Amino acid sequence: MTSEKIKLPPAVQAILETLQENGHEAVAVGGCIRDQVLGRPAHDWDIGTSALPEEVAQIFGANNTIPTGLQHGTVTVKKDGELFEVTTYRCDGDYSDGRHPDSVQYVRTIEEDLARRDFTINAMAYNESRGLIDPYDGRHDCEKGIIRAVGDPDARFTEDALRILRAVRFAAVLGFAVESTTKAAMQRHLDKLQNISRERIGAELYKTVTAPHAAEALQAGQGTVIRYICPELDACYGCAQNNRYHYLDVFGHTMQALANAEHYHRFPDEWADGYVRMALLLHDIGKPDSKTTDENGYDHFYSHASVSAQKAEQVLRRLRYSNAFVDTVVELVAAHDVEFVPTKACARRLLNKFGVDQLHRLLKLRECDNRAHTLEAWARFESNAVPFAAVLQQVLDEESAFSLKDLAINGKDLIAAGYKPGPQMGKLLNSLLDAVITEQCKNDPVDLFAYLNRCETEENMA
Ligand code: ATP
Ligand code: MG
Repeated sequence: MTSEKIKLPPAVQAILETLQENGHEAVAVGGCIRDQVLGRPAHDWDIGTSALPEEVAQIFGANNTIPTGLQHGTVTVKKDGELFEVTTYRCDGDYSDGRHPDSVQYVRTIEEDLARRDFTINAMAYNESRGLIDPYDGRHDCEKGIIRAVGDPDARFTEDALRILRAVRFAAVLGFAVESTTKAAMQRHLDKLQNISRERIGAELYKTVTAPHAAEALQAGQGTVIRYICPELDACYGCAQNNRYHYLDVFGHTMQALANAEHYHRFPDEWADGYVRMALLLHDIGKPDSKTTDENGYDHFYSHASVSAQKAEQVLRRLRYSNAFVDTVVELVAAHDVEFVPTKACARRLLNKFGVDQLHRLLKLRECDNRAHTLEAWARFESNAVPFAAVLQQVLDEESAFSLKDLAINGKDLIAAGYKPGPQMGKLLNSLLDAVITEQCKNDPVDLFAYLNRCETEENMA
């Protein structure tokens, strides 16, 4: 790959030129150059410059700048309706808390700025006059698919332990391997992750599990990083499952289930669904606590779905995910062993319970999970799940009623027909919905009232 392949967007080129015309050096730097070198679309373009923040603000004017992070040397510049971060070349002072540099010092050259960056692939810069600026041979590591710390890996991870998670994340996103001395240093400094805020750990984990190579990246090095940030998964490591459904321990099975989701990732994007991925990661974390071994030596995991759901909730709350995300993932984990019976009644019932989107997620989750079982278990699952998916589609195409709001009559209709308002009305509507779901009556007002009358007559006679 040569630097001719790097193409700066016109707005970035214009910002670099304006800074250069004012006597400063300016480059595009970091992730955007990595992505260009790799031939991937860059999603944000960061600019580095020798100009001081005040100079940047003055050159572009108050109307076109936002003093975003002056303490870090960053000014946001508006150009062609887009925002770009322009950061003065800097190096970091000491990191006495393993999290934030105690001070930020401006430096004169881009080379000094690149020296503070995390990985060689992220420590490249570019402008038209200098071409690719790559003192750590990041381009070579891009070609080889290697994540390697800039300089001394022990120093890098001691300064900022978040870089341990960033290494795993870039491995997951890019399908790269972490170079061995970098990997060994990551293991040595795992305990420093305690200095990192739970939100930031949660954010990195989310980016990792939704990436195309999540399982491989999480499993590398015996999975020590994910086992450190999630001790519940550590307990799954080596937890044997001696029964006819499994051929892997709980941790290995979890990773295989996650890898199955990645297989589909290449197809529709929805397979990267964060809810499904996170649910796959956590679906069996209750197994170590639920394990019993019978007299024949076979392992059982009774009620493990609900134990897993409780533990998943703890993990997700600890990592500060939003309530809506936690609720959705926990519901998937709790339901991950639901039976799919290929009948319309079952489809409607599950639609009523979970809603369309969540039921589709549950199907994906179950498929990925079951593909990580023995062939025998998979065949059993498939013989129900495949026809179930077809029946489900049929039910959806027919727009059958599967929730109260789809019912052809509502509370007002019942009141108009002389029923008394009150809690029993909800019960009545639910029993009507159940009758529609099980095809005891049609979803139209005449049929529904006729059904009600029939039930009342039967009750009176009883
Ligand atoms: P992406 O934006 O695709 O997630 P990125 O590499 O652009 O990846 P950012 O977090 O946007 O990552 O950071 C931009 C650049 O800043 C990185 O490429 C890297 O050079 C540097 N950087 C970011 N975070 C750190 C860190 N914790 N330690 C050292 N350098 C970092
Ligand atoms: Mg970025």
